Amino acid sequence: MCRKVTRPPAPEFLPHFHHIYVEHGAESYGLTERVLGKFPESRIIPIRHYKDLFSRPGQDLPAQRKSRSLVLAVGRSPFLYRGAGVCPSFGNSRFFYSSTVMNCIFDCDYCYLQGMYPSASLVVFVNVQEIFAEVEAVIREAAAEKMEERISGPPVYLCNSYDTDLLAIRNIAPLADMWLDFAAGHPELLVEMRTKSAAVKWISSRAAPDNVIVAWTISPDAVIREFEHGAPPLAARLAAARKAVEAGWRVRICFDPILFVSSWEKHYGAMIETVFSALPPARVENVSYGMFRMGRELLKRARRVRPLSALLAYPFVLQDGVYTYPPSISGPIMEFVGNALSRHVSPEKIFPVLPDHNGRKARQCVMS
Ligand code: SF4
Repeated sequence: MCRKVTRPPAPEFLPHFHHIYVEHGAESYGLTERVLGKFPESRIIPIRHYKDLFSRPGQDLPAQRKSRSLVLAVGRSPFLYRGAGVCPSFGNSRFFYSSTVMNCIFDCDYCYLQGMYPSASLVVFVNVQEIFAEVEAVIREAAAEKMEERISGPPVYLCNSYDTDLLAIRNIAPLADMWLDFAAGHPELLVEMRTKSAAVKWISSRAAPDNVIVAWTISPDAVIREFEHGAPPLAARLAAARKAVEAGWRVRICFDPILFVSSWEKHYGAMIETVFSALPPARVENVSYGMFRMGRELLKRARRVRPLSALLAYPFVLQDGVYTYPPSISGPIMEFVGNALSRHVSPEKIFPVLPDHNGRKARQCVMS
């Protein structure tokens, strides 16, 4: 006789940011007040140091992703880092990235953040003016070097949305606005803000700055549905990018990471056609494309966090500390995508991204 099996009820999760942790010292910052004002129903919990919460060992990231906590903390210098070799610098000699937020509201299977951070909580550093002061110091150094004619081009190229998606969290913390205002006062700076968001309204509400590039990461819809959980579909990202080019913004399109999925030719070929039927190629600043790649240690940890991911379980090959697809896979895909792009975009605007060959700290550069 069969006995009826009663399944335990699925656990219920509280809405995101039901808990907001405020680090000692962060209360006095204006940004803290602005963020807390957006969550009047949340439970506010004071903590000594954000790492007491964020860096605890043995955290359950899959569960945390279902009900994210928000942490407001005071960041400690350094706030700027040199861009890694796996990330394209687009010909800019002084290439930095900054981290004003740790973690992202989206949940991509291939994201390196899951291998980098022990927690899925979103940490916002509220002392943004100190971060800007550090950027100003780098700008001054660069200006001095430029005067000595030791470098060329725009002095400082800064990517501000690598370890998060600042545009996607614009309604939680207005950091995208703050960066725009800062960039407006610093023409020597070129800022790249990478995103997967569908920020049409926000784009329409702001004047297009000369020294800010919004870089949309684009994937085929089949990849978005399968691997980019919570991120807007292709049409929504393209609608935002289209609004941006129409309004005079500098727009970059990043096809990165490209994944080895079944029928990849069909998916990536159709996606490229869709992109350039939505966006006039002449109005796109440039495009980059690159295969999935991730540093050895990051991939090891990401596989532990997502043990059932077929994407992460793939037998990648190690090239100078970076895991990526073997050349027999990546070669034909890169060639196919490069050729498809060159039918729309002139060669000087196409930037292929290759795995790092210099063995430096290898981060996957596919943010947002
Ligand atoms: S890959 Fe980008 S959009 Fe996806 S979770 Fe990571 S930071 Fe967010």
